[in-house]
Amino acid sequence: MATLKVLRMGHPILREKAKLIAPEELQSTEFQKLIEDMFETMATYEGIGLAAPQIGVSKQLAIVGIPEDNPRYPDAPETKQYIIINPKIKILDTKLQGFWEGCLSIPGLRGFVERPRKLQIDYTTLEGTIERIVVEGFVATVFQHELDHLEGKLYIDRIKDTRKLAFNEEYDNFLCPDRDKDKNDKEIE
Ligand code: ZN
Repeated sequence: MATLKVLRMGHPILREKAKLIAPEELQSTEFQKLIEDMFETMATYEGIGLAAPQIGVSKQLAIVGIPEDNPRYPDAPETKQYIIINPKIKILDTKLQGFWEGCLSIPGLRGFVERPRKLQIDYTTLEGTIERIVVEGFVATVFQHELDHLEGKLYIDRIKDTRKLAFNEEYDNFLCPDRDKDKNDKEIE
């Protein structure tokens, strides 16, 4: 396995709509290795999600996995490791919820983003079957953040109040103390 370079904002691949993955590609050695490397890369940077365009592969593939002992996201619920291929999203609850998001492609910054609180995702598995999951709360935000990458969107596109875009240090010093007042104050990558 290898830790891959993560593209940063400004790279055009991050702004492309990713291509659908053909069924015959799923079992190829190359594709399996790509997924292994993505998990390795996500672990190296202590991320909880990673989309293929972030490592320069413009394909409809993202991984999500929140580990149990995760000091960076102590309030985040543990999830299994998901491999999401060719996803289709349906919003089940349009009520918005806000979290502080970060992104490995936008290092050093975080911003407050509001997104629908519950959604359904149909996606292709590595075995080629279709799986349906329903996610809500913080996990719903993590999925929407990652699947946005497949549409060429970044979280900063969704910030309504740009006063809530900050460097990590300033976030810790000035914005983070509100955490007690606002239970939605969490961060993701
Ligand atoms: Zn991201």
